[in-house]
Amino acid sequence: MDEFSHQAGGANGFASICKKCQAIYAKKWYQVNKAHVCQYQREWNSANPLKQKQYDKKRYAKKMRVINELRDVPCADCGKRYPTCVMDFHHPDGHIVGEKSIAQRVRSEGNLQQTIKDAKKCIVLCANCHRLRHLRLRQGYKNV
Ligand SMILES: [Zn+2]
Ligand SMILES: [Zn+2]
Repeated sequence: MDEFSHQAGGANGFASICKKCQAIYAKKWYQVNKAHVCQYQREWNSANPLKQKQYDKKRYAKKMRVINELRDVPCADCGKRYPTCVMDFHHPDGHIVGEKSIAQRVRSEGNLQQTIKDAKKCIVLCANCHRLRHLRLRQGYKNV
């Protein structure tokens, strides 16, 4: 009985925290709350996947229409015409490592006008000729 009351007193003493501890708690609370906000956003997105998807699809389709117009030309190497999905943009200086391709840039959010500008600098090649160009580039040929 004596031991029990002693324990209860100890618990009371522990409950009153010092200012430093309070600051830590406040920081922790903020971090927990921040995570909670993100969680809320995620939940909203997953609760409205259709809305999100339709929006993205519309934007993507619009961008692709513009890009497809640019590559709706005969291949610069073999002169054949293919559906636009077969046509690639080949940068005359070769591809800069780490730089996104035109197709990747259309998929990701970015400045469409800049992407169009860069796409216009490129040579439009069919997938076949594009691969062959890169093969020649790897083999060390210049001006391919
Ligand atoms: Zn070709
Ligand atoms: Zn290329």
